[in-house]
Amino acid sequence: MCAMVENNLSDDYINVSRKCNIYKMRKFHKRMEYKELLQRAKMQVPKGLQEKERFEIPKVVGHIEGAKTIITNFTTITSTLRRQPEHMLKYLLRELATPGDIRSGRLVLGAKTSAQKINQKIKEYADEFVFCPECGKPDTDIKKEGDLNTLSCSVCGTRRVVKRI
Ligand SMILES: [Zn+2]
Repeated sequence: MCAMVENNLSDDYINVSRKCNIYKMRKFHKRMEYKELLQRAKMQVPKGLQEKERFEIPKVVGHIEGAKTIITNFTTITSTLRRQPEHMLKYLLRELATPGDIRSGRLVLGAKTSAQKINQKIKEYADEFVFCPECGKPDTDIKKEGDLNTLSCSVCGTRRVVKRI
């Protein structure tokens, strides 16, 4: 809109131009408000949650082979999350309701499954078994204490009982 006005040499050019500036100013203010809101929102988010956003769970890499889904970077994902491949495997098979196993470091699922669905389940796994419920950091370990498995955070010391898979 503004660019067009600049080529328009009609009488009310100045008038329109001023309007244009006001329009630009408003836009600028809107942007500032948005930035400010974002800044404020960030300050209100507990620090741990921001850390969690910075930590990225690797996305699955793989392909479909016949009626099977092969995930080639499965052990990269489990080692990034510092969990046993067998532990995550058990969770995924249950959640995706499909048979499967780990063969030479690759996850082999006995059904055609979309990467999006697997990524979503891995995220849910991480929320349950990796990220600290208090500070949100991924620096946690699962320890067996008697009959219970606990997730303990090496950053803030929080301990929580986790579900058995
Ligand atoms: Zn913590």
